[in-house]
Amino acid sequence: MRHLRLGDTTVDILLDGVFEASRDILIHNGGEAALASALARWGDRPFSVDVNVALLRGPRGVDLVDAGTGTTWGPGLGHARSALAACGVAPDAVDRVFLTHLHGDHAYGLLDGAAPYFPRADVVLPEAELAFYTDPAERARLPEARHGGFDIAAAVTAAYGERLRPVPFGPVAPGVELVPLPGHTPGQGGFLVTGGGSTLLLLGDALHLEVEQAADPDFGTVYDLDPGLAAETRRAVLDRAAAEGWIVAGGHLRGFGRVARDGAGFRILPLS
Ligand SMILES: [Zn+2]
Repeated sequence: MRHLRLGDTTVDILLDGVFEASRDILIHNGGEAALASALARWGDRPFSVDVNVALLRGPRGVDLVDAGTGTTWGPGLGHARSALAACGVAPDAVDRVFLTHLHGDHAYGLLDGAAPYFPRADVVLPEAELAFYTDPAERARLPEARHGGFDIAAAVTAAYGERLRPVPFGPVAPGVELVPLPGHTPGQGGFLVTGGGSTLLLLGDALHLEVEQAADPDFGTVYDLDPGLAAETRRAVLDRAAAEGWIVAGGHLRGFGRVARDGAGFRILPLS
C-alpha cells in the first residue's frame, strides 16, 4: 500500500525509481562466516531497492519527507518529480521538506542546478547531520568516496539560505517529532508523524532491505558509515516500532508496514 490516511493528513509514497547495485555492497557485523551464510540465503540477486519520497498533505500544508535524486542519478531515477506533479502538487506548493539525512538519493531532489527546486519550502533537517557534513575535519578524515554528503550540504545551504532549518531532535512541527537514528550517517533522523490515533515513522535509511535486515539487523551495506551503530539503531527502532504499534515507511521500503518481533529479529508486515 502506498497511500495512508492519518487523521486529517494523507500520506503518499512516491517512487523516485529503483536503485540497483551488485551484491558486493552487502556486509555483516558478525564477520566473514556470518556474511557467507547471509549471502548464501541471499543468492545471486543484485541489491535492488525502491527510492522513495513521502508526500504529506493536511492541516500543516504540503510536506515532503526526503526529496529523491532529482536529475543526478540518471534516467532510471528522479521520477518523484513527475509523481508529485501527477498528485497535483507543483514545486512552489511545497511548504516544507523534512530531510532524514544528506545522501544524494534523499537530498539532490532539493536542487534545480544551484537553485532550490522547491522555491517556497523550508528544509528541516537534524542539526547533528548538518553539523557533521559541514565539518572540514570530518571531510578530511573520510575517504573521497564518502565526500558526497559534504558537497550536498554545501549546495543545499547555498540554495536555501535561511530556509534551511537545522533543528534538534524533538518536536519540529505540529504532530511531527524528529527522532535520532544514528549509524547510517552520524546525524540521521526519522520523522514520527501522529494523527487519527496512529503513528507513522518515516525511518530514512535505518534499513534498506525490509525482509533481510529486519530478520537479521546485523546484515548491512557499505552505505552505513558506522555499521555497528547502524545495526544497533536498526534493532532498537524496529523493537520500539513493534512495541508501540507504529506504522513504518522509509527511503527504501515498499510502502507501509507494521513491525512484529520474530525470533531473534523482526518481520515487517505490509499494510493492506
Ligand atoms: Zn542514505
